[in-house]
Formats: sequence, structure tokens, C-alpha cells
Amino acid sequence: MNPVFSNLPTTIFEEMSGRARETGAINLGQGFPDGDGPEDVRQAAAEAVLNGYNQYPPMRGLPGLRAAISAHYAHHQDLEIDPAEEITVTSGATEALAASILGLVTPGDEVILVQPAYDAYAPLVRAAGGTPRFVTPGPPAWMLTETMLEAAVSDRTRAIILNSPHNPLGTMLGEDELALLASFCTAHDLVAICDEVWEHVLFDGRRHRSLLDMPGMRARTVKIGSAGKIFSLTGWKVGWAIAAPALLHAIARTHQFLTFTTPPNLQSAVAYGLAKSDGYFTEMRAGYQASRDRLAAALAHAGYAVQTSAATYFLSIDLPASGLSLTDREFCDRLIDEAGVAAIPVSAFYDEDPVTTIVRLCFAKRNETLDDAADCLRKAR
Ligand code: PMP
Ligand code: GLN
Repeated sequence: MNPVFSNLPTTIFEEMSGRARETGAINLGQGFPDGDGPEDVRQAAAEAVLNGYNQYPPMRGLPGLRAAISAHYAHHQDLEIDPAEEITVTSGATEALAASILGLVTPGDEVILVQPAYDAYAPLVRAAGGTPRFVTPGPPAWMLTETMLEAAVSDRTRAIILNSPHNPLGTMLGEDELALLASFCTAHDLVAICDEVWEHVLFDGRRHRSLLDMPGMRARTVKIGSAGKIFSLTGWKVGWAIAAPALLHAIARTHQFLTFTTPPNLQSAVAYGLAKSDGYFTEMRAGYQASRDRLAAALAHAGYAVQTSAATYFLSIDLPASGLSLTDREFCDRLIDEAGVAAIPVSAFYDEDPVTTIVRLCFAKRNETLDDAADCLRKAR
């Protein structure tokens, strides 16, 4: 077996969801909503299945979806993206990451990753024959600094992988960090692979800005998105990679041999959904923000030190600040076995020097589920 993959355990998401299924625990681990997503988007998918969207679509994605992605980002992020030359539709952001990393990283390259890092990045870099170099900002601000970045770069560095809004922390890169990253990438001639799947799940009036939009970054940024997060339909696995034609060409070539295409019926429904009015996005954010605040308040009431989030489906609790001396992994084991709640230890997102004091909880759930979970967490103390 390929040791890049065979040496790794089952992902923490699958492990925790599996244990929750076995034990009947409330699952605040893996990040997925317990609703079904907007009915009109699902209806559009059903109609597409019944009305002829069932054979292989073009390799780069349905022209209608690429046009909708371009129009969507023009409207929401003021970006100009050529639907013919700069977009490839993929089977989820996961495949966009795989196609970007396998397509752009060659053996011997180094790639900078920021810890905690979403679990797919390092294995894909290694599968491409690259070597991850980790940058590790710390709590509570998790800020990237020039010193950290400069310490990680060498003349073999090809790319940096960034994730904003950030899973698992729920943080976002600030304007200063975006400016720092733009000057760092241009100075060292790096490609930035930007995982922006959480770009719409933002709270407290925040707005997303892509690194693609920063000076000098248009030709060296890959922007990755996912309909799963935009429409609360995480199982749909429709994603995309956006980049200038030269980069996109390499990504599309790779995509040909990973999945080649993505189900056209779902693509058609996503094209419909991306044109939804601003009201949909405002309402979606307000709903998740209310859930975030509900769980945060209940946990604070139960004596936990809560690190709230700027974005995503997640908030965190800080164990030592909550008066608990267990590691995150020990706490999550105890929580699922004794209190009936599944959560994610943030140390699972580290390859080196893990922070072991933070636990991630998913609040994209119904009020009753959040209240029941908070009740169990209160008893777990
Ligand atoms: N990147 C990040 C940061 C994520 O949180 C996720 C899923 N939650 C993905 C990528 C994968 O997205 P998809 O399900 O579209 O493959
Ligand atoms: N991204 C989801 C999370 O962070 C899980 C996706 C997966 O299971 N790979 O919970």
C-alpha cells in the first residue's frame, strides 16, 4: 500500500461519526447541518435528474454552472472570472484540493501549510512527492507573522496552502495578514492554494475577501469553493477550482484523471442556487449565527471557556481555561463514552507540535439538539 495513506488512521471525522452512530451520542463532531438544505435547490436537482441531466457533462463542468460561478463571484466578491478559461468544476472541494496539489506540486517541492491544517492537505502534498513545511501560529490570536513565514520558506518552496475562513478555528485572515501573504507569495514566487469553502458562512456582518483579489495575486492564486457549504448540502460534493488559465490548465489536466466529471444534475441545481437572492445568504448566516450564540451561551453557563467564531459551523472550548486538565483527545473520548456527545480534538489537525487544549464543536444543528448537547456537556464537568 502507498505509505502516504496507509500510515494514516481513519480520519477523525469518520472515527467520531462512527462512534456517535454506534453509541447514539449527539454528533457535534463532523461538520454537517442536521437539516436538508434549501428545498428549491433540491427541487432543481430532482428536476435535472428527471429532465435529461444524466450523461457525462463537459470535463471542466456544465457551461451553465461555470457561468453561474462567474456571475456569483462578480456579485458577491467583485471578482472577474472567465467561465471558459478560469473555472473547473470538481467533485467537492476535496477533489479541487487534490487536483490543485497533484497538478501543481512536483516531487522535491516544498509546500507551506498553516497548523492547525485541514486534514486533507498534508497527505495530498506528500502524495504529490512534495514535503510539507509547517507554520504554527498559536492561541489566542492565531496570527500569521512575517517571521514565521520566512522561517518556513526555502528555494524549493512551490506553494502555500491557506484556509480562510478557517476550519477548525472559525477564524478569518485579516487585511494585514492578506497583505503580508500577498507580498510573501510575490517575493518568493509562490502559488497560493486558497481553500475558501467557508466564504459564505460568516457572522457579525463580516465580509470575505479572497487572496486572489490582493495585489500581485491574480496569476498565482487558486481559489477553491464548495456548494456543500454554500447550500448546507455537505453530501453533494460539487466544488470548483478557480485560477488564471496557466494554473487552471494544470488543475484541469489532473481533474481528468481523478474523477473526470461531477454529476450534471447536481451541477445544474448548484447553478440555479448560486443565483439566489442576497436574502438567502443573509438568512443562512443569521440562522447559523443564532445557533452559534445559543450553544456558546449554554456552554458558558455550564462553566466552559468558549472561543466563539467569526465564520464556519464551529466554535471551540479551551480546556485549561475551563478548569479541565485533560488533553483534547482524552476529553473527547470521555465526552463521547460518558456524556454522549461527539466532538473533535483540534490536535488532530497537527502533524508537528500539536496544541492539545482545544475541542471543536459543530453548532449547525437544531435548537433541541444544541440544548441537549449542552446539557450533556454540563454533566461532563
Ligand atoms: N476544506 C475545508 C476547510 C473543509 O472544511 C471541507 C469540508 N468541511 C472541505 C475542504 C471539503 O469540502 P467538500 O465536502 O466540498 O469536499
Ligand atoms: N469538513 C468536515 C469537518 O470539518 C468533514 C469532512 C470530512 O468528513 N472529511 O467536519
